[in-house]
Amino acid sequence: MKKRLKKCFKITESPLFVSLSPHKNTSFGFGRSFSCSSLFSLLVGARESSPQKSKTLKALFLILQYISTYCIYTYIHSLCILETMEFTLASVTDLTSPDSSLSSSSVVASFSCDGEVKELRFQESESAHGFSFDLSSTQLFKLGPLQFVFVSDSSISSAKEESFSRGVVIKFRDDKESKEFCDSFEEWTKDAVKQGSTLPNGTVSVNKSKFDDKIEAASAKMYFHYYGQLLHQQNMLQDYVRTGTYHAAVMENRSDFAGRVVVDVGAGSGILSLFAALAGAKHVYAVEASEMAEYARKLIAGNPLLAERITVIKGKIEDIELPEKADVLISEPMGTLLVNERMLETYVIARDRFLSPGGKMFPTVGRIHMAPFADEFLFVEMANKALFWQQQNYYGVDLTPLYVSAHQGYFSQPVVDAFDPRLLVAPSMSHVIDFTKMTEEQFYEIDIPLKFTASLCTRVHGLACWFDVLFDGSTVQRWFTTAPGAPTTHWYQIRCVLSQPLHVMAGQELTGRLHLVAHSAQSYTINLTLSAKMWGPGANQGGILQTSSCKLDLKEPYYRMSQPQVYPTQEPQAQPEDIHTQGDDLDEVELLQHNVNAQL
Ligand code: SAH
Repeated sequence: MKKRLKKCFKITESPLFVSLSPHKNTSFGFGRSFSCSSLFSLLVGARESSPQKSKTLKALFLILQYISTYCIYTYIHSLCILETMEFTLASVTDLTSPDSSLSSSSVVASFSCDGEVKELRFQESESAHGFSFDLSSTQLFKLGPLQFVFVSDSSISSAKEESFSRGVVIKFRDDKESKEFCDSFEEWTKDAVKQGSTLPNGTVSVNKSKFDDKIEAASAKMYFHYYGQLLHQQNMLQDYVRTGTYHAAVMENRSDFAGRVVVDVGAGSGILSLFAALAGAKHVYAVEASEMAEYARKLIAGNPLLAERITVIKGKIEDIELPEKADVLISEPMGTLLVNERMLETYVIARDRFLSPGGKMFPTVGRIHMAPFADEFLFVEMANKALFWQQQNYYGVDLTPLYVSAHQGYFSQPVVDAFDPRLLVAPSMSHVIDFTKMTEEQFYEIDIPLKFTASLCTRVHGLACWFDVLFDGSTVQRWFTTAPGAPTTHWYQIRCVLSQPLHVMAGQELTGRLHLVAHSAQSYTINLTLSAKMWGPGANQGGILQTSSCKLDLKEPYYRMSQPQVYPTQEPQAQPEDIHTQGDDLDEVELLQHNVNAQL
C-alpha cells in the first residue's frame, strides 16, 4: 500500500481537539489533529488581564472555545481534506465489460477526492488506461480473504450507459493489503452522499435493500443475533431428521450437484454448502447475513478438501452480488407453519437474482397441512392460565380488570408442541407453495379457504397445522415432513386454539378461512375462522350453525414441550362432557390446582 498526502495543513497535537473529534481516526486526522485552540488562548489571555476577571467568564470562554473549535473542525472536514490512498492489486476484472479489464501486472486502486466527489480509480500503473467510480454509489462485498466484488450504480467513466450498474472483481496480494483497503473504503465512504438522501435538486434514486424496506431494524437485529450464535445452529444440526433428510436429498441427487455452481441461501454454519461440495459441486457460494458467517469460514477452512470450492459471503441475499449465476439453490428457510421468519421471501429473491433459468431448488415445493383437532386438556390448560387475573384480593388488589385481556392474550398465542395425531377429528387438507413460482409479494398475504368433514362427534378446539417440503431431485424425490406422528423435528407442530370451541357431529362439514398477513417483525398475523355447517338431511338448504374466530401472532408462540403427554393410548378419547372447563361445575380452587398439576 502506498500513501500520499494530497493536501497539506499544519498539524499540531491537541488533546482538546482530539476529544472533540467525532471519529476515532478520521480521514482528516490520522490520529493527529489540526488545532486552532491557540486562537482562543489569546482571547482568554486578554480577558484574564482585565481586573474584573471572574470564574464564570472563564467558564463561558472555555465553552465558547469548545464550540468554535468544533465548528472549525467540521468546516475543515467538509472541505474534503483526505489523504489519497493507493493500493497495488493482484488483479482487476471488470464484470460489466471484461474486454476493458485491466490486464497489466501492476494495477493500482486509488482513493481520491476531487472537490465534492470522492472517487475510487483503477489504473494500470504504466499507462493511463483505467476507470473510476463515484464512491457515493458504491458497495463492496467480500468474496474471500483476498477477493472482493466492487459494485457501483454509476460509473464516472461510463456515464453514457448510466442505466446499468458496474461491477469489478478485485484481488489483493495478501491479507494485510486486503484489510487496509477495506478500512480505507469504509473511511472514504463514511461521509459520502448516500443513496436515497434528499438533495436540493431532488431525491437521489434509491436502491435500498428490499430486506430493510420491509423488516423492522430491531427485529432483524435480534434475528441475526440469534442465528449468529453457535448454540442455535447446533440445535438445528442436532435435529437429525432435518439434517439427515437434507444430506440424503443431496447425496441421492449427486447428479444435480456434480460440476454445478450452487448458492446456499442463509448458510448458517455452512453445513449445506459442505454437503453440496461433498456431492461434487464445482463451486458453492455460502451466503450468510449473521456473524455465523465467520464460524462458517472457520468450519469450511477446517475441511480443506472442500474449502477450495466454497466461498463464504457475509451479507444479506437481498444486498450481495455474486460473480456468476447458480445452477442450484439450496436452503433451509422454513419456519414454524412453514412461513414464520419470512425467509421464504429471501429464498425466492435468491431465485430471481441468482438462479439460471431452469436451475434447481432444494427444496422445491412446500405444503402447509391443516386439520381440526379436539384437545380438552389443552383448552382447559389455556383457559386456566388467565384465572390468575380473577383474583379480587391479590395483596389487597383486585386483579379482575385485566382478566379479559389476559384471557385474550393466552388465546392469541399459537401452541407449539408435538401432539398425538389421534387428536385430529377430520382428514387434513393442504395448501401448496411452489418455491419455483411463488413471487416475493405473494408471501405478504396468504389466504387459505378451509373445508373439512368431521370424522366423529366432538368439540373442535381449533386448527392444527404442520408442513412438509419436497426435494425434487433428478434421481430421487424426497419429502421432509413435520407431521404429527412422524419423527419429531425442532419445528414440532402448531395449533391455533379457539377460545369458543365448536360442536360437530360425525359427517358434519366444517368450513372457514386461514388468513395469514405478513408483518414487519419477520412473522405473520394469523386470522382463523371455523364454522360448523348444518348437517344431516336438508343440510343443503341450511346454513352455518356456529362460527368461532381467533387472531394470533405467529411471532409469539406458546412452547408447550415440557407438558406431560396425558392422552390415552387405547381407550377412545374422553367425551367433552366428562371434562370440566371454566364455567362448568369445578370451582376456582380446583381449576387452579388442575393448572398447577398440568404445568408440572
Ligand atoms: N443452512 C443452515 C442454517 C439454516 S437457518 C442449516 O441448514 O443448518 C437460516 C439461516 O439463514 C440463518 O443462519 C440466518 O442468519 C440466515 N438468513 C436468514 N435470512 C437471511 C438473508 N436475508 N440473507 C442471508 N442470510 C439469511
